[in-house]
Amino acid sequence: MNINELVKNDLKYIWHPCSQMMDYEELKPIIIERGEGVNLYSYDGKKYLDVVSSWWCNLLGHCNKRISFAVKKQLDTLEHVIFANFSHIKAVELCEKLVKLLPEGLVKFCFTDNGSSAIEAAMKMSFQYHFQTGNSQKTRFMALTDAYHGETIGALSVGGVDLYSEIYKPVLLDVIRIQGPDCYRCPYGLNCKNCDAQCIEFANKSFEKWGDKTAAIIIEPLVQAAAGMKIYSPKYLAKLRGLCDKFNVHLIADEIATGYGRTGKMFACEHANISPDIMCLSKGLTGGYMPMALVITTKKIFDAFYAPYLEGKAFMHSHTYSGNPLACAAACEVLKILKDENIIENAQKKAVHFNNLIKEKFSSHKNVGDIRSIGLINAIELVEDKDTKTPFNPKLRIGYEIYKNALKMGLILRPLGDVIYFNPPLIIDKDDMDYAIDVAYQSLCKILN
Ligand SMILES: *Cc1c(COP(=O)(O)O)cnc(C)c1O
Repeated sequence: MNINELVKNDLKYIWHPCSQMMDYEELKPIIIERGEGVNLYSYDGKKYLDVVSSWWCNLLGHCNKRISFAVKKQLDTLEHVIFANFSHIKAVELCEKLVKLLPEGLVKFCFTDNGSSAIEAAMKMSFQYHFQTGNSQKTRFMALTDAYHGETIGALSVGGVDLYSEIYKPVLLDVIRIQGPDCYRCPYGLNCKNCDAQCIEFANKSFEKWGDKTAAIIIEPLVQAAAGMKIYSPKYLAKLRGLCDKFNVHLIADEIATGYGRTGKMFACEHANISPDIMCLSKGLTGGYMPMALVITTKKIFDAFYAPYLEGKAFMHSHTYSGNPLACAAACEVLKILKDENIIENAQKKAVHFNNLIKEKFSSHKNVGDIRSIGLINAIELVEDKDTKTPFNPKLRIGYEIYKNALKMGLILRPLGDVIYFNPPLIIDKDDMDYAIDVAYQSLCKILN
């Protein structure tokens, strides 16, 4: 099949995720043939630098030799097995390795097959825990404004980004929404580097009012990624932990985007020195190789389900592909590579360079309102007016225009609204990062000047 036919047939059959398909009339799907390191190569011979890690999941480069080898080896041994009553070596190995890295107390692992399903499982687990420990009145969930936790009905309910959830409101759960941190437009006029997380007062109020009815609060620790890489102080997280303890509310840490070294530490919770009651992982977990997610919890929660069968206390949650051995093999290898090659520490060394370079290049531009960074995540928020922080009219689709322009120059940006960001594989080198910054800046100037 030639390339034009491929594109034609793609459009004939495929309903792409998170897309207005009519946009594809102008910007056709790019058919990728192969990947190598931080680059993707299309059938028409173009190279694309993947600084968004193919939706934040590619951690160690495309077609990483070690992960590929581990998956191939597993493929010839065991491809899948029912995970109820059966197990396999790679699942056990993964838990043994992870338990040493996770915040203290997270020791029981529940396997699902994507991020949203992990969120669903975490919510059900929390509710059922309270139900089975004499708190059946705890039926509500709390979440922050601008949160993103996935796309299924439960996960969308706790999410707070209207772009994804607005139209479904009539069928979503009634979630207690707490105004979350907004450090660029801080209502106290403070700076997140030296504030005392004063904005916890909104959470205080909600906990006072609804704490006794609430099973769990779910948060993205430190970075509200889909909201535009909004970064907030670890102090907020620490204070939230305190509130949860006081009101017997579970803290669910959605580390699907922030885990695996994205913030400079293995898990974002480490910046605040806290342990959540439940943690969700996915994306980087398999290095972007296989769909898998984990819901990890404490012995305390696990024990509330542990009873003679006829008491009906089991967690009856399941997914067909739970604990898939291919995914587990990839995930085990990812942890080995992180350790052997000192990936997170090395990424952190590069991070300073990238951040300085981005600030140098972008900060004086008249439409760059905010530059924020943590680990290798760097985000640039574009505004119409820097002084008033007034956003552009979303109808202008500034971010999308910049995206299209950068694509022509071989860079995959995929901005979140008018927030351009870099969230590259942790192995990216200085040359590639310099190139990405350069192309992003040129694209921005082309559209805005
Ligand atoms: C991507 C993401 C999810 C959803 O994961 P899927 O695998 O896409 O369902 C949930 N929470 C956060 C923070 C994410 O970034």
